[in-house]
Amino acid sequence: MTTASSPPAARRGVHLQGRCEEGRGALVTVRSPIDQAVLGCLRLADATQCDAALAAAQEAFTAWRLVPAPRRGELVRRIGEAVRAQKPQLAAWITREVGKIPAEAEGEIQEWIDLCDFAVGLSRQLHGLTIASERPGHRMMEQWHPLGPVVVISAFNFPIAVWAWNAMLALVCGDSVIWKPSEKATLCALAAQELVAGVVATMPEAPPGLLALLPGERAIGMQLAAAPQVGLVSATGSTSMGRAVAVAVAGRLGRSLLELGGNNALILAPSADLDLALRAIVFSAVGTCGQRCTSLRRLIVHRSLQDTVLRRLQAIYAALPVGDPRKPGILVGPLIDAPAVQAMARALQAATAQGGSVHCGGAAPELGAGFVRPALVSIAATAPIVREETFAPILYVMPYDDLSEAIRIHNDVPQGLSSALVTSDLREAERFLGPAGSDCGIANINIGTSGAEIGGAFGGEKQTGGGRESGSDAWKNYMRRTTTTVNSSTDLPLAQGVNFDVSG
Ligand code: NAD
Repeated sequence: MTTASSPPAARRGVHLQGRCEEGRGALVTVRSPIDQAVLGCLRLADATQCDAALAAAQEAFTAWRLVPAPRRGELVRRIGEAVRAQKPQLAAWITREVGKIPAEAEGEIQEWIDLCDFAVGLSRQLHGLTIASERPGHRMMEQWHPLGPVVVISAFNFPIAVWAWNAMLALVCGDSVIWKPSEKATLCALAAQELVAGVVATMPEAPPGLLALLPGERAIGMQLAAAPQVGLVSATGSTSMGRAVAVAVAGRLGRSLLELGGNNALILAPSADLDLALRAIVFSAVGTCGQRCTSLRRLIVHRSLQDTVLRRLQAIYAALPVGDPRKPGILVGPLIDAPAVQAMARALQAATAQGGSVHCGGAAPELGAGFVRPALVSIAATAPIVREETFAPILYVMPYDDLSEAIRIHNDVPQGLSSALVTSDLREAERFLGPAGSDCGIANINIGTSGAEIGGAFGGEKQTGGGRESGSDAWKNYMRRTTTTVNSSTDLPLAQGVNFDVSG
């Protein structure tokens, strides 16, 4: 078995039928966003390899769906053990390839481990309902069956965890998995895939085509999305990607699970514990250099606190350790690439043009090409730029006077992923959590917008796509439901008392 700490295999990057082969598509050079060092070269998959993966996944599904779910859980248990053993090495790939600080990179691998534990328990709990029948001698029930091959299209910013959330659940649910990782994070995907391939090889019931990896560009994602044999397309990324994938999947009346962009806000109420609030705000706004789907982008602060909060935030931002994430003490690493730095600069220009004041932040070329300092911007809630997700550490700060106004500002964006209110007022908290409060998939009190645990269902509303992944009952996405009625009587009464007597 190749270990996750090996240098990137001399760049065979396509995993098909349990084997690693060279891609037949474009040759790409992978560079670290930290210092542009070359991490490896590999060829991406081409359309014929995509077809081969689809055929293999279909064949693997046919066998895997018949393996008892707790045995499928045993595979995931073994994967969890292997991940535990290689946590630092896997995390190091995340730091190198996407620039996360080690604590966050290890947190991402910990999510994979947590999801394995959750999925193993779930493998004995994939239960349906029994339902009272109106007909004598009849019994109704729901059963959940494996769905089919699952395609996972993942974003660069959680290069391993997003696939793991999907794949670990899909495996216990009896599905095969094809992974199209972000073209910006292929080596992380390869390290994860090499680990699971080694574990699959230890389990005779696991067919070789159970887990495939197809590093590729958008065209491969679209080919997978359009394939009729795919049971579920789980796609994580920008809203524009979600729109394209959703149309392709809907065109064949298939099933998609979309986890798209966020534009997350925190309301800071007058009764808030300010020290707690500032910690929550800063972690959410600058963690992962503002490149989480749940990153805090809008701070809606009560007017009475605005000056104090801005002053304290400016002091914290001025002291933020930004730099090479491999160095001790660094909390903010680089953005993923040059276009991301340019997007941040464009957003700050737009904010200024729309009447905002940029207090701090922007490109920091003295630290390296991909580095920026997190930005704080005072701006009106009506400025068009605050409705957009810029995938960079920009925090827009805007005042409010009463909670109804704050909630209106909060909900007045196209996205609906994560939200928070910091308050000591129980009535305010319950209002925010209630039906006329936050319209997001995640609503928090007295914590920030980012850093979710795997036990809850994760996802958002509106242009965030409506999908739910990870904990709670998200496993149902990866299965199909049958409603069954069994008649053990000698009669044939019809539902709703319908009389339909036939003679003969
Ligand atoms: P992206 O949309 O550029 O790419 C994501 C994935 O989609 C990649 O694998 C890419 O190759 C693929 N892709 C892009 N366009 C496609 C198309 N037309 N057809 C098929 N596949 C396509 O996103 P990114 O820059 O990697 O990630 C950042 C975005 O992802 C942000 O908007 C962020 O909010 C979002 N995100 C959302 C979640 C969530 O759970 N809601 C989690 C992580 C990231």
